[in-house]
Amino acid sequence: MAEPVRPEIRGWCPGAHRPMMAADGLVVRVRPPLGRLTPVQATGLADLAEAFGTGFLELTSRANLQIRGVKDHLSVLERLAALGLLDDDPDFEARRNVILDPFRHAQDADLAAALIEGLRGAEFAALPGKFGFAIDAGPERRLAQTSGDIRLESSGGGLILRADGQDLGVHVSREQAVTLALDLARWFIASGGVGPDGRGRMRRLLGSTALPAQFQGVERPAAAARPITPGAQGHMTLIAGAFGQLAACDLRALGSVATALLMTPWRMIALEGTAPGLSPDAITDARDPRLGVHACTGAPGCPQATVETRALAARLAPLVKGGLHVSGCAKGCAHPGPEALSLVGRDGRFDLVRNGAPWDTPALTGLDPNAISDVIRR
Ligand code: SF4
Repeated sequence: MAEPVRPEIRGWCPGAHRPMMAADGLVVRVRPPLGRLTPVQATGLADLAEAFGTGFLELTSRANLQIRGVKDHLSVLERLAALGLLDDDPDFEARRNVILDPFRHAQDADLAAALIEGLRGAEFAALPGKFGFAIDAGPERRLAQTSGDIRLESSGGGLILRADGQDLGVHVSREQAVTLALDLARWFIASGGVGPDGRGRMRRLLGSTALPAQFQGVERPAAAARPITPGAQGHMTLIAGAFGQLAACDLRALGSVATALLMTPWRMIALEGTAPGLSPDAITDARDPRLGVHACTGAPGCPQATVETRALAARLAPLVKGGLHVSGCAKGCAHPGPEALSLVGRDGRFDLVRNGAPWDTPALTGLDPNAISDVIRR
C-alpha cells in the first residue's frame, strides 16, 4: 500500500456570498455582526437551515455558523439580508475577521465595532482570508487558543497590542488601540506578509521580518484561562452541538429564551441565564463523551468521503478512553493533527492510525465499520 500523503488544505474560507460546494449542496457561512444574534435572527436562521439546508447549523472555530446542503443560494441570500446577516460587499465580508471574548461582549464590542469599521478601507482588501484579529481583554485570556494575527489583550498594566508570534506586546490606551491595530495590519501588507497565492499569517512573516519598534513592547499578556466547557459558566450558559453541529430546533429554542445569543470560537453558543430544554444533539454537560471525539461531515455530504462518520463517532464515543477522530478521508478536516485513535475512511472501510494524524501510516487497514467497536475496545 502506498504511504499516505497529507492532502492539500485550502486557505480560503467560505462566506455567505462565496459559498463552498459540497456533495450535498452549498456550504453558506454566516458571520453574525459582532458575534451576536438577536432572537429574531436566531429564529430566522433556524428556519433557513430547515427550509434550505440540512436542518443543522455548523458552529465554527471562527465564531460563525454554516448552513449546509443549500441548493437555492439566492433565496438564502435574500433572507440573510432581510435578517441583517449579510454584508453588501463580499470582499468586506471576507476580511472582517474579528473575534472577541464573548464573556466581555458588553465591555469590548465597541473596540470590535471600530476595528471592523476600519477594515472597510480598500487598503485592507489584500488581507488573506484567514487573517484575523482577537480582542481578549479580560483578566484571563479566554482566546489564548483562538487564531488571531493581531491581538488586543490584557496585561498587568492594562491593554496591550500583540502581534501573533511575539511573546510581548506594546501598551495601548483604549483610544489608541484600534488605530494601532490597523497600522499593524497595514505594515503586514506593506512588508510582504501576503504571498502571491493570497495567503499569509503574521507569525510566518515574523519568522523572517523584524517587527517595527512601534509595535514592540515589554508587556506580557495575562495568563490563559482554563478551557471553556459546555454548561453554566458564571452568568452564562454554553451550549455545544454534537460534532460541532447544532440542530435548527435547538437554535430556535435558545433564541426564544434569550435577549441575545453570543457566538464563541469554542464551537458553542452562549447565552445569559439558563438554557431551555434541548434535543439530544445539544451538549450542555462537560462530561459528555462526544466532546472528546472529532468527526467531519463524511458521506454523503462530502464528495471525498466514502464512509459515514458522525453516526459511527457517536456510537464509539462512550467506548474510547483517549481521543478519537473519525475522518471521512486522509485530509482530516475536523482535526488536522494527531489523535490517540484516528479512523480514516477509504473505499467504504476504515484505516486505523494510532497516535498520529489521518494522513499518517495506519496500524490497521480495511476495517468494517460495523466491527470497529470490537477493535477499539482491545
Ligand atoms: S476529511 Fe471529511 S470533510 Fe474533509 S475532505 Fe475528507 S471526508 Fe471531506
